[in-house]
Amino acid sequence: MTRKAAVVTAILFILAAAAIAQTLVYRVDRSVCTGCGDCAAVCPVDAVEIIDGKSHIDPEKCIGCGFCQGVCTYDAIR
Ligand code: SF4
Ligand code: SF4
Repeated sequence: MTRKAAVVTAILFILAAAAIAQTLVYRVDRSVCTGCGDCAAVCPVDAVEIIDGKSHIDPEKCIGCGFCQGVCTYDAIR
């Protein structure tokens, strides 16, 4: 593979990965959420707010890392 082809392939890979990441939308099941705030504490981009005692994820800020889902002991984030 030529250097130019490798660069083009790498760019296409990055664009595809970014597109896939944008489809990973995390949502909160408000019927399960206790409002503990653990998810908000670990979010690296401050996309989580506790509103009326329940977690809310701002889809415009969320980068799809999944940290919030990992710490939720109530399985409220999917
Ligand atoms: S960690 Fe889970 S239960 Fe706690 S506020 Fe976040 S979504 Fe709700
Ligand atoms: S997936 Fe990551 S960026 Fe999105 S709300 Fe959860 S912790 Fe924040």
